[in-house]
Amino acid sequence: MNAFTVRLNFHGDLNFFLGSRTRSGRIERILAEKVSVKDVIESCGVPHPEVDLILVNGRAVGFDYGLEHIAEVEVFPVHALPPHFEENRLQILRWQRFIVDGHLGKLTRNLRLLGFDVAYDREAQDQQLLQIMASENRALLTRDRRLLMHSVVRHGYCPRSQNADAQTIEVIRRFELFGAIAPFTRCLRCNALLEKVAKGDVMQKLEPLTKVYYEKFGRCTGCGQIYWAGSHFSKLQKRLEAIRARCS
Ligand SMILES: [Zn+2]
Repeated sequence: MNAFTVRLNFHGDLNFFLGSRTRSGRIERILAEKVSVKDVIESCGVPHPEVDLILVNGRAVGFDYGLEHIAEVEVFPVHALPPHFEENRLQILRWQRFIVDGHLGKLTRNLRLLGFDVAYDREAQDQQLLQIMASENRALLTRDRRLLMHSVVRHGYCPRSQNADAQTIEVIRRFELFGAIAPFTRCLRCNALLEKVAKGDVMQKLEPLTKVYYEKFGRCTGCGQIYWAGSHFSKLQKRLEAIRARCS
């Protein structure tokens, strides 16, 4: 087989993955054998869960399409599709179950605070993460793009920012979560849902001042942690409102 040139053009914010020398979003690859378009895209540093549409010479193709001749490849992220290609998208927009890698503890906390189902184990190894992701049908959130490129990953996202609040907004936008926000319904420690409990039922677990000042209590259905609208609550609420305002 004669060598042939493939020109790739990465759109939207996908140039985040290309490195500083290719901020224009254009990369050329010379190939000597038939290669799947997914492998060529990932060889440029862009994980497949970030890719929502691929056009080869103007025609929409799937990840397993084989490149074997000179080609122009256009690669689009979620929320940056050209008109008339909605039916060819490769990603699902809405998703509400996540697994987060061990480096994103603050993002996990924020998402749970907003009521989202987030599996998280700070000590988990990559293989465990992928196993839980697959068996519980969760989308993977990680800044480790190699992990996101693993072939078993179907839904996932790499937060661009290093700041947890900005990451939270990115995730809400990417997975269209805005309408599903349900603050203070989930345990920040173990991810289980909270239930309302009568003060009398939790009285013996409360500190003296908490007993005096608070009337409404929630209890985690998983680990039993008691929650109430303490002094930290109004601070959390303010942060939440700021996040919500930036999402809309
Ligand atoms: Zn809990």
